[in-house]
Amino acid sequence: MQVNGERLWQRLMDMAAIAPTEKGGNNRQALTDEDVAGRKLFIKWAEAAGCSVRLDEIGNIFVRKEGLNPHAPVVLTGSHLDTQPTGGRFDGIYGVLAGLEAIETMHEQGIETEHPIEIAVWCNEEGSRFPSSMMGSAVWSGVMPLSTALELRDIQGISVGEELRRTGQRGDLEAVPFPIKAAYELHIEQGPILENAEDIIGVVTGVQNMSRQQFVITGQEAHAGPTPMALRRDPMRALGDFLPRLYAMCAHNGEDAKITFGEIRAEPGSGNTIPGRLVMTCDLRHPDRMIYEGMVNAAYDIVRKACADANVDIEIEELFHAPGVTFDETCVSIVHKAAKASGYPYRLMSSGAGHDACNVASVAPTAMIFIPCRDGISHNEAEYAEPAHVEAGANVLLSVLLESSLVN
Ligand SMILES: [Zn+2]
Repeated sequence: MQVNGERLWQRLMDMAAIAPTEKGGNNRQALTDEDVAGRKLFIKWAEAAGCSVRLDEIGNIFVRKEGLNPHAPVVLTGSHLDTQPTGGRFDGIYGVLAGLEAIETMHEQGIETEHPIEIAVWCNEEGSRFPSSMMGSAVWSGVMPLSTALELRDIQGISVGEELRRTGQRGDLEAVPFPIKAAYELHIEQGPILENAEDIIGVVTGVQNMSRQQFVITGQEAHAGPTPMALRRDPMRALGDFLPRLYAMCAHNGEDAKITFGEIRAEPGSGNTIPGRLVMTCDLRHPDRMIYEGMVNAAYDIVRKACADANVDIEIEELFHAPGVTFDETCVSIVHKAAKASGYPYRLMSSGAGHDACNVASVAPTAMIFIPCRDGISHNEAEYAEPAHVEAGANVLLSVLLESSLVN
């Protein structure tokens, strides 16, 4: 069974016709009139496809294809319809419209499923207008209190609560999880891995752990000329020692390990003064929590040892930490099986970005499916996915939804 790729592509383009930007992208930021126009268009399509529509108190939309057993736990899919101010036509929208395409294909083939299937449109995923990404799914899954979300304000001081009321997008349904058998989010990769490998389907096993560490290394300012090398307390000497060791430590942890030194500042920043202070960041990432924690500890040890050897002081502060998510083993294996059976080239991979699925994963068995996007570009008007890849991902989603919903 195959989806109608042309219909799905046409819907993506019809949705993109709402609030287009100059360079071929979209600007439908959360709960603007433009976002609401997109939501209404989707609801119109969903109702025409025989689905029922519910709206919850934080503006999440749930579109339902009834199951033979209406009391059976739901098989959930979906993503988001809001965009960045200079966003693309596929980020989020693809997952929502592919879910609808899968349901319509089932209807056309006369397929009844044991479990109900629902498509979630999570409100304010992008966090560009109201400053909190993945807001709707965070409230629904209990990660963020409803009252906090309703009080988030845009740059003009307008709150989420006010905009939900003004636009009629605040529903009666309580924003809490309902029984879910399995949840799947289909999304463009937003990175270059699939494209470079010439794979079409990404079986996403989780979202990587990440943190940003700040190193403040203090030595002593002194004149570049008269100060003997042996008597200097030079933070640069420590840097020269630990930098290659940190890269080696990262390489030792395999190709999924990432280390980035994105900011570095020597103070006072004068050409003939030995710097008294060095301030720098170290971004560390790995999909596996144990390996990730090992990397952080190893980095601390390496930096502290190098600083002690150079007779300089070191203070380390973790500026932020986003714990990783490991998706549900059964859900991942169902996606894996469907990808294999589809015949499309595929790979297992982790996500470099956060998604609503991370929040959903905290309350229900969850996995994700990726397709490539051109040059790995996203959050950009130039974002593009090949029609053949769009169709391929929707076919895999269709198999996965059938596998999870047909029988108990
Ligand atoms: Zn997205």
